[in-house]
Amino acid sequence: MKVLRGYKTELDLNDRQRTACLRHAGAARFAYNWGLQRKLDAYQAGQPTPTAIDLHRELNALKQTELDWMYEVSKCAPQEALRDLDRAFAHFFRRVQLKKQSQLNGPAGFPRFKSRKRGIGSFRLTGRIRVFEDRIQLPRLGQLRLKERGYLPITSPGPDPAADAKILSATVSERAGRWFVSLQVELEMPDPIPAQGAPLGVDLGVQTLAACSDTTTYANPKALQAAQQQLRRLQGQFARQQPGSRNREKTRRKIARLHHRISNIRQDALHQATSRIVAKTKPAAERPRVVVIEDLNVSGMLQNHHLAQAIADVGLYEFGRQVTYKAAWAGSEVLVADRWYPSSKRCSQCGTVKDTLGLSERVYECVCCGLVIDRDLNAACNLAQLAPTASSAGSHTQCPVEACREACAASRTVVSLVQPGRTRKQVLGPTAYPKSKDDGGQEHAVKAVII
Ligand SMILES: [Zn+2]
Repeated sequence: MKVLRGYKTELDLNDRQRTACLRHAGAARFAYNWGLQRKLDAYQAGQPTPTAIDLHRELNALKQTELDWMYEVSKCAPQEALRDLDRAFAHFFRRVQLKKQSQLNGPAGFPRFKSRKRGIGSFRLTGRIRVFEDRIQLPRLGQLRLKERGYLPITSPGPDPAADAKILSATVSERAGRWFVSLQVELEMPDPIPAQGAPLGVDLGVQTLAACSDTTTYANPKALQAAQQQLRRLQGQFARQQPGSRNREKTRRKIARLHHRISNIRQDALHQATSRIVAKTKPAAERPRVVVIEDLNVSGMLQNHHLAQAIADVGLYEFGRQVTYKAAWAGSEVLVADRWYPSSKRCSQCGTVKDTLGLSERVYECVCCGLVIDRDLNAACNLAQLAPTASSAGSHTQCPVEACREACAASRTVVSLVQPGRTRKQVLGPTAYPKSKDDGGQEHAVKAVII
């Protein structure tokens, strides 16, 4: 199977290379802003909007007169920036359509002007890109040293560098004073052997990042929370310093570095957890046939101010994204449970659904069958039971209480299957659970995750 894969690694630049990179990023930013202004002007004058190709042609003509400094950078930098601008408009119009159908709550996101104050940014290069063991060769920039050896897919020497891994583009970006290169590579991967193991339910949370139905748990590093005190001190210092002063700039850099570190810790924990869940390197019998995750209403939960920071610190959406693509590479399927499936309130043994379950109740006790089980594990087991041909129909029939059976039948919610390369889409099943915010649905979703 053909997959698109990204590789990102840090560059080790000398002063001249750093200046050249800054110049490229500047040219990309300039082209983007210039193109945005041109589009706005054309719109106001009632003319058809120029496309990226029109704008690139126009920009090339300007290069000969007023923009002669642009000859110092690769032609790709402004060209790709103009393509990004077209893409930004396409996303904006798509979101406007969604808003018309009232499927979107957030802003439509009209493209904004880029500012140097909001970061140096990045630029993308295409064309002849070659990778050696410890360096990368990019158009116009030449050979740049890499800080990590042997991570990027090395292109074979000879006239055809695209023989094995086809490198589509390279993006150079800056963050907190460090420079990175990210390659987009098209790879021919051997088709994965379909996984044969038992379905795995994964309950996401704040106390523990993920609890799985096979009793493994992954700790949440709570990176932001741990650095909160340090961050608060620096931000206070920054606010008191003279605008434009050198010391203020130093503090700004410290804050940026700290944010970068927090984000790295979070990303590392997510990658480790999702990789272990999918267990790509294990034999097929030990890999889960189906991974069931919840469809968490992340943006809804973020509106609860008491929980927003803790939830944002976990990176739940990113977790779902990583599991989805890693599962596709490992031959597992991903199921997304319905948003209103009561994974926490339901008993994983008999199917009884509790009316209320406090956030502090760490242990689930079933009044119907007497099951006593860890709260997270119970939720994970409930999710695992949603997998097709699993024991979802068998276990609850033993329950002697009529009401339990009914509740359980109602809770057998339709789940949506995620296909590799497609966006996840929620399928609402015939459920007996509240769907709108007004009848308490919002609260339920929040309770399901804060465990
Ligand atoms: Zn029970």
